[in-house]
Amino acid sequence: MKESNRSLDSARDDREPVNLLASVSDVSTESEFFSPVPDGYKKGKTRYCFVLGTVMSGLGKGIFSSCLAKLMQDKGLKVTPIKLEGYLNIDSGTLNPFRHGEVFVLDDGMECDMDLGTYERMLNQNLSRANFATSGQIFSSILHKERHGDYLGRDVQMIPHVTGEVKLKLRQLATETDADMVFVEIGGTVGDLENAYYIEAMRELAYEEGPNSCCFVALTYILEPKTLGEQKSKAAQLGIKQLMQCGVQPDIIACRAANPISEKVRQKISVYSNVPLKRVFNMPDSASIYMIPAMLRDGGLDFEVARLLKIEDRINLRHERKAWIRWCDFTDKIDAANREITIGITGKYTSVRDSYASIINALEHAGVALGCQVYIKFIETTSVTDENVAEHLANIDGIIVPGGFGTRGAEGKRACIKYARENNLPYLGLCFGFQMAVIEFARNVCGLTEANSTEIEPDCPEPVIDILPEQKKIESLGGNMRLGGRDIELKPKTLAWELFGKADSVRMRFRHRYEVDPRYIEQLETAGMVFSGKAPNQPIMQILEIPSHPYFCGTQAHPCLTSRPLRPQPMFVGLVAAAMQKHYPQEKLPDCVKAARKVCNRND
Ligand code: GLN
Repeated sequence: MKESNRSLDSARDDREPVNLLASVSDVSTESEFFSPVPDGYKKGKTRYCFVLGTVMSGLGKGIFSSCLAKLMQDKGLKVTPIKLEGYLNIDSGTLNPFRHGEVFVLDDGMECDMDLGTYERMLNQNLSRANFATSGQIFSSILHKERHGDYLGRDVQMIPHVTGEVKLKLRQLATETDADMVFVEIGGTVGDLENAYYIEAMRELAYEEGPNSCCFVALTYILEPKTLGEQKSKAAQLGIKQLMQCGVQPDIIACRAANPISEKVRQKISVYSNVPLKRVFNMPDSASIYMIPAMLRDGGLDFEVARLLKIEDRINLRHERKAWIRWCDFTDKIDAANREITIGITGKYTSVRDSYASIINALEHAGVALGCQVYIKFIETTSVTDENVAEHLANIDGIIVPGGFGTRGAEGKRACIKYARENNLPYLGLCFGFQMAVIEFARNVCGLTEANSTEIEPDCPEPVIDILPEQKKIESLGGNMRLGGRDIELKPKTLAWELFGKADSVRMRFRHRYEVDPRYIEQLETAGMVFSGKAPNQPIMQILEIPSHPYFCGTQAHPCLTSRPLRPQPMFVGLVAAAMQKHYPQEKLPDCVKAARKVCNRND
């Protein structure tokens, strides 16, 4: 009998410790157990923390999970997160940011949920496609295996095959990263049909891994209806009950609420859920998500998790002390800002802040570093024209035209850029905003009055922005843009080169199909636009600037995706510094380059 079958047999014998695991390449048809594990998996090495939401979506599971992961990382533990999404899309690239929040792009080109951005920022760590799964990926893999004949004549079922695939994914992540802790965030709300099989997979995994290997955290919401003026916990109780009906006993409950929850409510939650009072935590709304780690730490959540998972012996308190001091240096500055500026962000998704989450975060990082509160004004550009643009941009100290697709509002964005260029208003163009800056400059400075992008006007006579040659042959729309991290070669003695600390090159993340048509580069440069960042060995323009302007920059990349609280992004720092100089002309504030050199500790 093979080794793995012996362990499966022993699993059916109550006297033996549970060991249901078989290696991926060694799954038996004889058994009802189907829990393939990747080669090299060390059972017991990695602990799992599952974060689920009850009552409603939008509780901030990703924020909670990333903050808790950060506290454990501070203790010297190796942590890695994974988000499990219920929807059937293979990635988030085809989702509308208006409905689902921004599409976050990882260095390896994965287009994923915005929560991955929260994890990267909190953990100051690059993630990969292994950190993100959707039902689409899970089922696609299963169907592929089924056609390949991997299920050995069995009927392929939700349990054990689909749940087995989920568990495999988690264990693969644990094996690849050699993590002490994997944080598993389950998208949606307990009770959704979509994520029920994820919860079942977690239940199975916890059973297979054994006691003290997994910890279930349920986020819930305490209502406080204005008409009653008191906190109500019934919805929370029912939500937790629903989780228990799935066979999952939560270990920890985090209560989200507008205000701190009362002792009475905590007691009720504890009684109804079998969770000791000391593990029912308060998590009221917070002005900045960066204050949440301290909130969780003050409540003792981190050590409670460490105790539950019996990993106290892996904790390095010296490491924690140092990491915490560094973090507090950052958070102390959040409240200490003594200047204020307003940055305008144009765009069509203006009603949803989540659509621009990374940009808002990048501005906050830069603002905190420079001691300045950055207010944001969203500008819907569909009604902006050259005639009324000054009104729309009144009292604004700087402007960002962010990424975008299609034609809607494009002329309004162009009008904003023209105004910024002509009126010395600090400007940062991101991807589409870079392309629109080229179009505006070509039209109004180079005299190419019919300049446009073929994305906006397919037959335009002066296609200064055109589809990338590699994109011409692609017909479908999913996951095939020019995606992910790429190096950018910087031109010495330019603003970009100065901002990035005179580095030869920097790495940023991309997500686009169109580029500056190389035939127009010379004409644009002769007229005063400088392309200060280019793709190595390819004529793809990646950063532009206008040296005669106090701060006019654009990039084909999305620098907001790599801005971190402890590592603000130089192009955003430059924008905020330039906007501060504009807002406070009497004060001798450092210029954008000096500011960037002072607060940016790395070249990216
Ligand atoms: N629509 C433009 C392109 O595909 C810009 C993309 C973006 O802003 N992410 O090139």
